[in-house]
Amino acid sequence: MIERVDGGYAATYLIHGKNGWVVVDPGTRLAADLTATRIGKAPVSLIFATHFHIDHIGGIERLLAYYPDAVVMFSAGAMPYASKRKRIPVPRFRRWIVGLIPIIPRLSHPLRNLYQGVISAKTGMPFFVFRKASKVGYPFQCRLQEGQDIHGLEGWRIIETPGHTPDSICIYHQDSRSLISGDTILNISGCGELNRFCCSWTDIEKSFRKLSALPVENLYPGHGASLCGIQDVLARVQIRP
Ligand SMILES: [Zn+2]
Repeated sequence: MIERVDGGYAATYLIHGKNGWVVVDPGTRLAADLTATRIGKAPVSLIFATHFHIDHIGGIERLLAYYPDAVVMFSAGAMPYASKRKRIPVPRFRRWIVGLIPIIPRLSHPLRNLYQGVISAKTGMPFFVFRKASKVGYPFQCRLQEGQDIHGLEGWRIIETPGHTPDSICIYHQDSRSLISGDTILNISGCGELNRFCCSWTDIEKSFRKLSALPVENLYPGHGASLCGIQDVLARVQIRP
């Protein structure tokens, strides 16, 4: 039901919807190429992101070259960044030290990922210097919000999960007990962990409590291996401020 494409920094998930494929977190340019190889000539109806960060959205322009009819959607919370009304928020210094630097070497292909980030569209860069340079060079909508259906994806619902960024969302499929968690929950540890690289620890903890109320057996994180067929998989997730 869910296919996964690796190779573009963040994991890309493909779900077959009513009107064609839905691409969640297209990743970087390489992921766009790999996604197009996987999907081939079948239609892509929707491309959307769990949040407005380059490793999740840098390949959208490239993917649109393959599927020009696809609609691009971000969460409602991403509107200020996508429209350049606001600069992308940056986690505090400590969060880079405890949350990001330790995991970079543990992600697969760190050098290739870095190169892919450099050659992808400079959109959604959470760095002090570059975050002003966000430019979205394609039509998009910022309409994904809690309580709203995802067009063409029946049975999936949006859960707003601020914390990693204010605009972060997860999507949940009740029948299969599946959660695509974006960068709210990662899996570098092997059992999943709440992302310490976040703009607000208070918010991400609160978001996790909200997710924990759902029965989840299949966890599809933004980085790290998927955890599938594990009853109450969120109960194992590590939480370390
Ligand atoms: Zn992110």
